Amino acid sequence: MKIVVAGGGIGGLSAAIALSKVGFEVEVIERAPALTEVGAGIQLSPNATKGLAALGVLEAAVAVSSQPERLEMRIGRTGEKVFSIPIAKEARNRYGAPYLHIHRADLIALLKRAAEFAGVQVRLGARVSAYVRDVDGLRVGLDTGAIVPCDLLVGADGVRSTVRRQMLGEQEPRYTGAVAWRLTVPADVAPDLPHAAIVWAGPGRHAVTYRVRRGELINFVGVTETEKFAGESWDQPGDIVELAGDFGDWAPPIPDIIASAASCFSWALFDRDPLPTWSDDRVTLLGDACHAMPPFQAQGAAMAIEDAIVLAKCLQADGISEASLRRYEKVRKPRTTKVLGSARANMGVFHRSNAITQAATYGPMKLADRLFPSFVRSRQDWIYGYDVRHVQV
Ligand SMILES: Cc1cc2nc3c(=O)[nH]c(=O)nc-3n(C[C@H](O)[C@H](O)[C@H](O)COP(=O)(O)OP(=O)(O)OC[C@H]3O[C@@H](n4cnc5c(N)ncnc54)[C@H](O)[C@@H]3O)c2cc1C
Repeated sequence: MKIVVAGGGIGGLSAAIALSKVGFEVEVIERAPALTEVGAGIQLSPNATKGLAALGVLEAAVAVSSQPERLEMRIGRTGEKVFSIPIAKEARNRYGAPYLHIHRADLIALLKRAAEFAGVQVRLGARVSAYVRDVDGLRVGLDTGAIVPCDLLVGADGVRSTVRRQMLGEQEPRYTGAVAWRLTVPADVAPDLPHAAIVWAGPGRHAVTYRVRRGELINFVGVTETEKFAGESWDQPGDIVELAGDFGDWAPPIPDIIASAASCFSWALFDRDPLPTWSDDRVTLLGDACHAMPPFQAQGAAMAIEDAIVLAKCLQADGISEASLRRYEKVRKPRTTKVLGSARANMGVFHRSNAITQAATYGPMKLADRLFPSFVRSRQDWIYGYDVRHVQV
């Protein structure tokens, strides 16, 4: 049985590995001429790294990652700590897997190697344009003119998924009202920056800093509420002067990080309300194609990795059938919908606009961190504690 996966991002490659491991012939079709990712970091929480373990790539990921000692929230302008949760040993002890910070290009490279090793065929520079179902079965049409017959099509083609559009009709994603700036700089620009994932909160904006590539680089993401955005692609150049206008007067070392960046990129952030359905006959969706969410919970890629493993389990259990795809959606949709809600809510938490709302939000958080640290830690259990390897389908 042959499965075509549209899209060779984190979700598509994870699905390709998982599906080929359970015995399917898999072809990934990616519109870009090379399988790569942008020069930015990504956080992989323990639920995501348990997924990487299921795919057989966790050791390779650990080897090129940085492991944060703590997860922190600070006030952007002053650097004052709101909470600080230990995560290095705790991730393994409490959740059974490490918390990693990885460069996206490194993650894609190791997923690509694993996919090729598993026998996945990857066709680059070809865009999935449409699919057709008729008496001859399912066929996928590419912009190159090629037609690829298959038994199942998985649309892992991102927030503006072509497969989703054909399945459910034209429907624009929702602009979250915020753009993300991103850049990386050598770690010696800010040697005192703690080995931590730090959310720096501020009025109408927040920043996130952490180290990637074995600690050699610092990844900076700045999120600003604005109605003005230039583009949606990862390689949309940003204006360092404008970025410095938003974050240049924040606590050290943020100004140094921005001042030493040679360039930056900006990306308008879109999400979608939960879809009415993820599948239609032998066509299904995965990752951002079916549950695009804002990055304020750092879970979009984690959800795509989890989807990949659950989809493979469902197809292994019941073969390629509508029942398997319904099961996949039934298992995954409640969780991805809950994470979407929590990611949306976080934007408000990180962007408190004045001293009163900041005090009302961050004051109790600081107190809880001091008086009930185990309660603060347990708030992430429902996300990080999930072990996709043990999900029953
Ligand atoms: C600023 C920012 C920070 C983030 N941080 C985190 C984080 O720390 N942790 C986390 O878990 N998530 C994070 N995310 C979310 C994460 O990046 C996404 O959820 C994840 O990349 C989705 O993967 P995907 O494979 O579903 O889609 P995509 O990464 O969008 O991949 C889709 C692929 O399909 C290809 N494609 C598109 N259309 C077609 C077509 N018609 N035919 C063939 N190929 C096609 C594209 O070229 C692309 O390669 C962040 C997102 C942003 C914006």
